[in-house]
Amino acid sequence: MSVYDDKPWLARYDAGRPRSAEPGFPDIVSMFRATVARDPGGDAIRYFGRSITFAELDELADAFAAGLAADGFRPGERVAIYVQNIPQFVIAQLGTWKAGGIAVSVNPMYKERELAELLRDSGATVLVCLESLHRDVAAAVLPGTAVRRVLTTSELDLRARDEPGVFAGIERIDCPGTTDLVAFLDQHRATAPPTVELRPDDVALLTYTSGTTGPPKGAMTTHRNVVFNARTYRDWIGLGSDDVVLGIAPLFHITGLIGHIAVALLTGAPLVLMYRLDPALTLDTAEAERATFTVGSITVFIALMNAPNAEQAKLVSLTKIYSGGAPIPPSTLKAFQDAFGHYIHNIYGLTETTSPSHAVPLHTEAPVDPASGMVSVGVPVYDTVVRVVGEDGDDLPAGEVGELVTEGPQVIAGYWNKPDETTKALPGGVLHTGDVGYMDEQGWFYLVDRKKDQINAGGYKIWPREVEDVLYEHPAVREAAVVGVPDAYRGETVKAFVSLKGTCTATPEEIIAFTRERMAAYKYPRTVEILDEIPKTVSGKILRRRLRDRD
Ligand code: AMP
Repeated sequence: MSVYDDKPWLARYDAGRPRSAEPGFPDIVSMFRATVARDPGGDAIRYFGRSITFAELDELADAFAAGLAADGFRPGERVAIYVQNIPQFVIAQLGTWKAGGIAVSVNPMYKERELAELLRDSGATVLVCLESLHRDVAAAVLPGTAVRRVLTTSELDLRARDEPGVFAGIERIDCPGTTDLVAFLDQHRATAPPTVELRPDDVALLTYTSGTTGPPKGAMTTHRNVVFNARTYRDWIGLGSDDVVLGIAPLFHITGLIGHIAVALLTGAPLVLMYRLDPALTLDTAEAERATFTVGSITVFIALMNAPNAEQAKLVSLTKIYSGGAPIPPSTLKAFQDAFGHYIHNIYGLTETTSPSHAVPLHTEAPVDPASGMVSVGVPVYDTVVRVVGEDGDDLPAGEVGELVTEGPQVIAGYWNKPDETTKALPGGVLHTGDVGYMDEQGWFYLVDRKKDQINAGGYKIWPREVEDVLYEHPAVREAAVVGVPDAYRGETVKAFVSLKGTCTATPEEIIAFTRERMAAYKYPRTVEILDEIPKTVSGKILRRRLRDRD
């Protein structure tokens, strides 16, 4: 029985697809080995003039795994990866899997308290870190963590060419007490990698998310989750080795991990990386590399339209464009089509669904919700069952608004060391997304609201508690409440309301500066309003909706 039996127009996406339950379903390393065997000389990664072939990537990842094993690393240990979109990310991740480890992606925007919390929670024993991040952030937090080996690296390492201005200001930095990653790889190139047995249901990744129920948690993403959704991209969008993937989504986020790394490792398509997202350079690179596919957040596509070279750019080959993580305003869709002649397809999912649970089929224009004017997030991908449920948990008919509840092979195994949070968000392995929406008669889904307090700043998720905890550290703050408010560029941005202690004084600007020093740039409040009292219910719960509505 197929989920598409009642939607014959979708049947072509379902026919003959490999099933996640098939015997011999691969782990990520076996999936990658099949690609290496097919096309060892094909480019796996392209980074400023340097091409790393599939065979070379295989060797580098083997060297990483061999180095870990020589250090006494055991299967199941965690390796935290704290670098931007550079080839070393992929090498370290693949090498971790080859050693039977779990890769922990760290947002390179994280400041000290965020990194410290993540290292503590994951218990990572190895940290792969950008030199500048070691100097500015990591060195201070490492004592007191379980990390026993730090491998440092630089954006300059694996490039073969300098674009004018692109690497300006980046220098090699001495990182005492660490090992140079490239030297570590060279040292272990001749060593045989460890032999480990991976099973599809082993945890491959911890991807940190504020999730549906609260502060950051490590989503336990399995090998099966990753391979399944890499195949979803391949089959749903029709990607193959003739494609060229433009890596604009951050690799630490599940969108980049699946839509860039896993897609390349599965299909044999080269992944083009840039260590930072410069809109003009991205357009030039997309043209020069003849990129055919990308996935990113809508704010990136807005930035591309506003790039200084946007008018001259001809993205002829880049026809497979997907946007996920945040709503697509129809006006942006149209403006992008006018500028570049290509339609942006919506794709929807959560960290907990290993990126997509829904997508708009390629070269299909999604319908728009007549009430909100928002573009549909698509239809569930194959093997995936999504129900819309009411307050009492009962299924609602088409057209009625409720919470989206998702079951499928891409739903994670749970949260790392957090059984209570797992039971709350994933009772019986079924994900309660916290997203509120409906399905129309044809099976298209629309999001209209959120049950969760999460703030969505252009795809970056912020949990109010994370910001409130920092506000409470300010000596003048008595109470704090944080909400998302509309923002023309990001869709939503962070606003804080605070009340001050008796005789204390503080200006909104001082409070903003205080938070800015202590958290990733996308999280700190852009505005602070000082109130006499924070509105609360009689039981003391913050009335966030009332605060949002003040704006
Ligand atoms: P994350 O775990 O960072 O991937 O965030 C997942 C959340 O992002 C979802 O629960 C939605 O609220 C939001 N989201 C993801 N994709 C879309 C989309 N295409 N349109 C609107 N919101 C989205």
